[in-house]
Amino acid sequence: MERRYTKETRLVQASNRKDDRTGAVNAPIYMSTAFEHTGVGESTGYDYARTGNPTREVLEETIADLEGGRYGFACSSGMAAIQAVLSLFSQGDDIIASLDLYGGTYRLFREYWPQWGVDVRYVDPRDLQSVESAVKTNTRALFIETPTNPLMQEADLQALGEIARKHDLLLIVDNTFYTPLLQRPLESGADIVIHSATKYLGGHNDVVAGLIVADDDELGTRLFNIQNGIGMTLGAFDAWLLVRGMKTLSLRMEKHQQNAAAVCKMLGSHPLITEVLYPGQGGMLSFKVHDERLVDPLLRHLQLVTFAESLGGVESLMTYPSVQTHADIPEEVRVKNGVTNDLLRLSCGIENEQDISADITQALEAAEKQIAGREERYT
Ligand SMILES: *Cc1c(COP(=O)(O)O)cnc(C)c1O
Repeated sequence: MERRYTKETRLVQASNRKDDRTGAVNAPIYMSTAFEHTGVGESTGYDYARTGNPTREVLEETIADLEGGRYGFACSSGMAAIQAVLSLFSQGDDIIASLDLYGGTYRLFREYWPQWGVDVRYVDPRDLQSVESAVKTNTRALFIETPTNPLMQEADLQALGEIARKHDLLLIVDNTFYTPLLQRPLESGADIVIHSATKYLGGHNDVVAGLIVADDDELGTRLFNIQNGIGMTLGAFDAWLLVRGMKTLSLRMEKHQQNAAAVCKMLGSHPLITEVLYPGQGGMLSFKVHDERLVDPLLRHLQLVTFAESLGGVESLMTYPSVQTHADIPEEVRVKNGVTNDLLRLSCGIENEQDISADITQALEAAEKQIAGREERYT
């Protein structure tokens, strides 16, 4: 899609005008694994579907365009995308990562990467001085999530980009929470952007997928060789589902954001809530209840919002990071980082904002009654 159109328009039109033969407005799903060669050395551009599939290509072009890079790669999950990017590194390399990191990424770093001799160390990316002083001669990359999950802290990508350039490091940014509509890391000096497209990009809680974007030719080639060589590619049907979801991303983001702001306002003045963490944009927020015993009954009393472990979909989901997304982080590390047992995370869906607020309010009240009742029984 031509650059003269806005991102919203390019997203909506993502799979239109892709099929010259039929003029299909919605690009077809190519389930074929093999493509005919008319003769030796001749190819339509497609040979074998792990290497290239026309449906996956629509998705890869769309995300590359949206992030402002020239190379897009669709993987079977966000974790597969992260693993693909980590495959750029080798024994003896050192990576500096965000302290407050998605639990699955932390688990991959801790449990899998030591065997390849790649060291990962953690710093608070808001503290630029400690990021820079953590750089060693064998440091190769900064791996950043912003805003962080679940504490919603924003890092300064521009400044991190400068540190990366100065020390010849790759700046890798997991842009799952903001999407390219709110944040375009390549423009701030990042070299690689990663998405768990399972979240906002897919948006309907119906497809697991990961995306990678890079702009540099050498990185693009290396990432292509990793994707094709290892084969963590996204299937054609899932690629199609993802494109379909992405077409409405800008509408959804507006509503997610509007709902998040409304829920924040409600929580901010609620007597049972001690803290609300919201970075000011996006659809994700976290909050702390005044007594951690409220957590379980609160989650049990939700009637609209679902207690489930994901985010970014049209349905509102509440997550308890301590036992779900962040369970693999040792408790003392987790609590020291601020992911305490009274912390809940909310992914605001696109339902009516009053319905979401009313559901959380009634669940909080029911939870409060329940723990008060328990106390009466014991005293
Ligand atoms: C969910 C998530 C991942 C992992 O993606 P999957 O699609 O679940 O494999 C990575 N990073 C962030 C920030 C996430 O929220």
